Amino acid sequence: MASNNSVGQGDDPEPAQFLELKQFHSAGRGFWSDVSETDWNDHRWQLKNRITSVAHLQRLMPLAPEEEAGAKLANTKLALAITPYFFNLIDPTDENCPIRRQVIPRIEETRAASWEMSDPCGEDSHSPVPGLVHRYPDRVLFLVTDRCAAYCRYCTRSRLVSNATGYDFHPEFDKQIEYIRNHPEIRDVLLSGGDPLLLSDEKLESLLSQLRAIPHLEFLRIGSRIPIFLPQRITPQLCAMLKKYHPLFISIHTNHPRELTTEVRDALGRLADAGIPLGNQSVLLRHVNDDPWILKALMHKLLMCRVRPYYLYQCDLITGSWHLRTSVRRGIEIMEQLRGHTTGYAIPQYVIDAPGGGGKVPINPGYVLSHNNDRVVIRNFEGRVFEYPEAVDGTPIAAPKRTCEPELVEHSS
Ligand code: SF4
Repeated sequence: MASNNSVGQGDDPEPAQFLELKQFHSAGRGFWSDVSETDWNDHRWQLKNRITSVAHLQRLMPLAPEEEAGAKLANTKLALAITPYFFNLIDPTDENCPIRRQVIPRIEETRAASWEMSDPCGEDSHSPVPGLVHRYPDRVLFLVTDRCAAYCRYCTRSRLVSNATGYDFHPEFDKQIEYIRNHPEIRDVLLSGGDPLLLSDEKLESLLSQLRAIPHLEFLRIGSRIPIFLPQRITPQLCAMLKKYHPLFISIHTNHPRELTTEVRDALGRLADAGIPLGNQSVLLRHVNDDPWILKALMHKLLMCRVRPYYLYQCDLITGSWHLRTSVRRGIEIMEQLRGHTTGYAIPQYVIDAPGGGGKVPINPGYVLSHNNDRVVIRNFEGRVFEYPEAVDGTPIAAPKRTCEPELVEHSS
């Protein structure tokens, strides 16, 4: 099919793989076909039956030597845990399966590049009370737990989550809330962790209601990968509770279109029906999603699930993640092949979280070719060059004397 929606050259056909990736499939039951429907759809059953050891993994699938060695050492760095539901998305016959690379440890994790860090975003140095990060003037990161439903091998907070390295994580909710109450400049709280949706409805509601009672808080956010790892947790009861605390946004985290199953689509639909604006954060990962077709399929599926793509992160310099990192050059190439080639809503902002706590820096292909007092020269997604006349700032009462005609001039490329 020739299409102006295609990635790269305008007349490239869309590969069949792209169309297949855009389909929604159920994760199925796999090894758990004899489990009752009630248990399978119960998030507590899913959590209780997670795969957490190399022996358990080996009973379910053959491991590559690098995975076996990595899984043996994982619990000294970042725990191994995979829900049965999410395990079913792994292709056990494909060592390069993009789902597998995200959750099955490899021995490469235990080696660090010299530029890697245990706290690449510099969070610990901006923590006024345990569990709270106040890095930017008007917003805070409120860490609620160090547990997740499954553990991502590139996790930025792997120093902390799963507590495999003995990090002293003891959030003190009362102190965290008191700090926010005493800082009227804070208008936005992001609950994160670990995964806040692992808290019980009651505990989460207690937190949300205390935060909502603080008059200067304009909106609340939750960052969660639960809808992807454990869609069973997104119950109608949870959604009914969350909708009492609007404006409340949820940022999910998904990296590959195969993660968006029918189960996930239904769970996201329940959140969207509760009026919760949904965004997605992805991490650019080598051999997982470092391909424009894969990311384009992911972004299209997110929109079909009523989720707005938000950020595409260059992988943070977390210790032991070098084997999953792509070049920034590759990231820019991918963005170049998305922007203009598909719906603007489907384009996330590619960012680097500046090492050491510099914050998110947007990284874009160079669309501004030159800029002076008279004009901006820009190129579009097709490489065509245009001039845009520069305006005079301020509020001119009379029309200023023009030195050039403000006409759009298209240059032939
Ligand atoms: S779900 Fe988030 S916090 Fe948990 S391991 Fe994955 S990236 Fe880290």
